Amino acid sequence: MFLVGLFMTCFGIPATIWAARILYILDSHSNARLTGGLTEENIIAVAVIGLLMAVVGIILMIFGKMKRKNQAISDSISNSGKLQYCTHCQTNVNPTDGKCPICNQKMRG
Ligand SMILES: [Zn+2]
Repeated sequence: MFLVGLFMTCFGIPATIWAARILYILDSHSNARLTGGLTEENIIAVAVIGLLMAVVGIILMIFGKMKRKNQAISDSISNSGKLQYCTHCQTNVNPTDGKCPICNQKMRG
């Protein structure tokens, strides 16, 4: 999820800057014209979509970081010996069971 967010932000921010630059040039140079069938509405759409992607990307990155933190907490619980964490299916397992009840993966230790 973090990588998806990073990708969206990396794509969204340059797209927004690109569109904003073109809109600025169009605005400040009255003789500037768009080529290649692009209209001002297309550029505005790119700016809005780029900005949305950047914002969603940042939100995904924040969520990704939070999820990673939770994973670290659950890892530290498993390392304390109270619970073990199945690396195969991400389930908390009672270490006295010896194996994961979900996927039958053998527990270490
Ligand atoms: Zn398992």
